[in-house]
This record gives sequence, C-alpha cells and structure tokens, in this order.
Amino acid sequence: MLPRLKSRDALAPASSLAWPPGLEPARLICHPRARRVILRLDKDGGLVLSHPPGFSRQRLPEIVGQKRAWIERARQALLAVALARGPASLPERLEAPGLGLSWELEQDPQGRAQAREKGARLRVGGEGRAARQALKRWCQRRLGPLLKARLDALAGRWGLPYQGFRAGWQRSRWGSCSRQGRISLSLKLAFLPPELAEYVMAHELCHTRHHHHGQGFWRELEGLHPGARQRPRQLRKAQDLLPAWIDADLQGP
Ligand SMILES: [Zn+2]
Repeated sequence: MLPRLKSRDALAPASSLAWPPGLEPARLICHPRARRVILRLDKDGGLVLSHPPGFSRQRLPEIVGQKRAWIERARQALLAVALARGPASLPERLEAPGLGLSWELEQDPQGRAQAREKGARLRVGGEGRAARQALKRWCQRRLGPLLKARLDALAGRWGLPYQGFRAGWQRSRWGSCSRQGRISLSLKLAFLPPELAEYVMAHELCHTRHHHHGQGFWRELEGLHPGARQRPRQLRKAQDLLPAWIDADLQGP
C-alpha cells in the first residue's frame, strides 16, 4: 500500500481558526517534509493547505488572506475548465500517457452502451453514465493487460517476480501488494504521466521483497526508480488532474 500522509495538528483544528470569509480550507495537512506553507486547490476548488511540523496554525488565516487574489483566480480557471468540458463528459481523445497510447473517441449517444476499437479510433455508444461505464469496461479489458505487460517487463528487468495480478477501478489506491506477492494496480495508472505509473509499479514490486515502508524498502526502491521519495507528493497532485469521467461514478474503495 502506498503511504498516505494525514497526520493532523490536534491543537488547532481548521474550524477553531478565524478564516477570511470564503477562504476556509477544505483540508489542513501537517506534512512531515513540507518546508513552508503550501496552498493548492483540489479538483472541486476546495483549498488544501499543507504546513511543516511545528508550524503555528494560528498564522495560517493571515497567510491565506494575503493569497486571496491567487485563490480566486485559480478557482475561476478551474470553473472555466469544468464548464468547457462538462463535469463528466467523455473527451474527444482518450489519452493514456501512462501507456504511451491514445485513441480518437467517437460518441454514439443513440447506440448500444459499448466501446469498440477500430484502429486508432474508439467508438463509445450510449449516453452519460452508461457511456462512461462502457468505456471503463473497455479500459479494463484492453488497458488492464497492457499494464500487466509493463509490470512483467519491470519485474523481469529487476528480478522481482510476483504471484498474481489484478487491474481495477479502485477509488483510493494506486496499487497494492499482498503478503503473498499478489499485485493489484489501479487502471487510473494508464492516465498518469509515465514516470508516475512506473513509480507505482516499482513501489508494488518492491513490496514483494519488503512488506513495510522502512529504510530497506525505500533504499531498494530508490535504486529501482531514482527520485522515488518525491513521487508520493506528485501522485497526490496527479489525482486532481485525472479526467473527470473516471471518478464520476466510482463506488467503494
Ligand atoms: Zn507501499
């Protein structure tokens, strides 16, 4: 399982501080490796604040107030993008950078809810949720084996065999590895930048040897995938960049 950083400052919850109107944060995170206060927006426009350990939360409302212009501009930009593409409509191109592939996407609202590939084109029938589900089933059939092929290539290169494989639309995890060495990957990896998709694969393969996130684990992972320690932070940001149709109907973990 990938590490998550959710340690919170118990002394001053967000609700006890005097935030400027309209700038109350959606999430407040004490981040062990943060060197300064970092502001960002999640995909719903909620303000996410990260601060270093020991930082006094009483100072945050003032910092946020000074950034009001930036926050409002960023929210407007987010809104404009959402309006332009619709909250969960399918894109004109299905880009799968994690696999280095893309398809031109043709929609057929009157057709049966299924996805059919013809060369570089993908025709998706149905509307709304039915069309999204049809596309997801296609991704599972078509992209799942491609992710496995990538994983196999890395496992072979690094001499880290695993015992079983599954690719699915799990909501909250990029990947996992059981004690028995069964690896499960999120199909969302196909929609991430390739270096992040490879990082998740390296991370889970490394768990076939280390069933923990201790020093030995990270040392080996850095050897397989230089810069590994920076990846968890990049992955959290990448979640917000995934196409909206992917998370529109997901259920369960
Ligand atoms: Zn892990």
